Amino acid sequence: MILVVGAGFAGAVVARQLAAAGLRVLLVEQREHVGGNAYDELDDHGILVHRYGPHLFHTQSERIFGYLSCFTAWRPYEHRVLARVAGRLLPLPINRTTINQLYGWDLDEQGMIAFLAQVAEVRPMCTSEDVVLSRVGAELCELFFRHYTKKQWGLELSQLAPQVAGRIPVRTNDDDRYFTDSFQAIPRNGYTAMFRNMLDHPLIQVELATPFAALGDCSRFRHVVYTGPVDAYYGYRFGALPYRSLRFVHRHLPDTPQYQPVATVNDPGPDVPWTRTTEFKHITGEQHPGTSIVIEYPEAQGDPYYPIPNPSNEALYQRYKQLAHQEAGVTFVGRLAQYRYYNMDQVVGAALAAAQRIKDGLL
Ligand code: FAD
Ligand code: UDP
Repeated sequence: MILVVGAGFAGAVVARQLAAAGLRVLLVEQREHVGGNAYDELDDHGILVHRYGPHLFHTQSERIFGYLSCFTAWRPYEHRVLARVAGRLLPLPINRTTINQLYGWDLDEQGMIAFLAQVAEVRPMCTSEDVVLSRVGAELCELFFRHYTKKQWGLELSQLAPQVAGRIPVRTNDDDRYFTDSFQAIPRNGYTAMFRNMLDHPLIQVELATPFAALGDCSRFRHVVYTGPVDAYYGYRFGALPYRSLRFVHRHLPDTPQYQPVATVNDPGPDVPWTRTTEFKHITGEQHPGTSIVIEYPEAQGDPYYPIPNPSNEALYQRYKQLAHQEAGVTFVGRLAQYRYYNMDQVVGAALAAAQRIKDGLL
């Protein structure tokens, strides 16, 4: 019997792969549901909402998309985000439309290239601040990035690794999609339904509301796959790894067919404490006389949602990683166990690779 801890993407994919290879799997999850942070559910008004904030699936990998397609059909969906800046709603990532609307100009693409060349600062790429300033300069950094980042992470742009703000490109054309990956879609019946299909296998037994600690001695398992926070596994031996949390405020607005023009509106200013508001009907295409939204308030305490990428946290993680490497019979995989700012597709990729390594070792 193999033990898998955590029923998010990492745990569910590994469990399914091992079961498919003929291994019996016990999957324990401390929450009362599967799906990890991608869990979705019908709210009291019958609208499908993402309990832990908006989850948009996107990938460049045909292999990963194909793998998940064994467990779900898809609804094609390209995410769009507007940022509330200077009293207007402007496309994000910053593109030609953003700049023309912000400044009341009519730049063509060449004009946009020239504008960016003029405002961009030449800097070494050491932090997220370097990334933003070298792409869009000081004024746009102030309007779109500095305060949002401070709210989201409780840190300055200069205290975060380049990859954080590096997630948001800058475009000289009018492409207003948040992602440009070749595969962008939402599970047609939701993420939770996809997870249920993935875990529906005679060799997988799922125990909800069961924390790892409740199992006691694990020597009876042939192998353990752990997808929770790596520092917790080791009793915070070297100190707690910093994770950022969020408070999700869900609201239903009756008799409101549409609340905002796109799925997500960001509030990058310092005047409000939240970062973004998401209206789910845009994502699911659901028809309903009312609408449901979620507002994200970043917090220091609470469930660990984001590893915080910067050099000192990475150094601390490396100490835990060394322990994890030496741990016989345990595989650590996933966003919390590997302390990586992974998107869903990256977790699926990491989990498929981990399952293969385990099979190679055991079979
Ligand atoms: P998780 O989903 O965190 O699952 C880990 C599971 O393990 C949890 O269910 C947890 O309860 C359980 N667990 C932990 N410790 C224990 C224990 N001791 N005992 C038992 N169970 C335990 N990615 C995208 O690709 N696109 C997006 O649009 C996107 N949006 C996001 C928005 C938000 C607000 C957040 C927080 C994340 C978003 N992500 C997005 C990232 C995505 O959620 C993760 O990549 C993915 O869910 C990680 O899967 P995981 O299995 O590694 O971790
Ligand atoms: N960001 C920002 N302003 C925005 C959107 C994003 O400054 O309006 C920065 C911020 O640091 C954020 C990072 O870019 O944490 C990555 O944004 P993304 O939308 O990818 O974050 P996620 O969806 O993972 O929360």
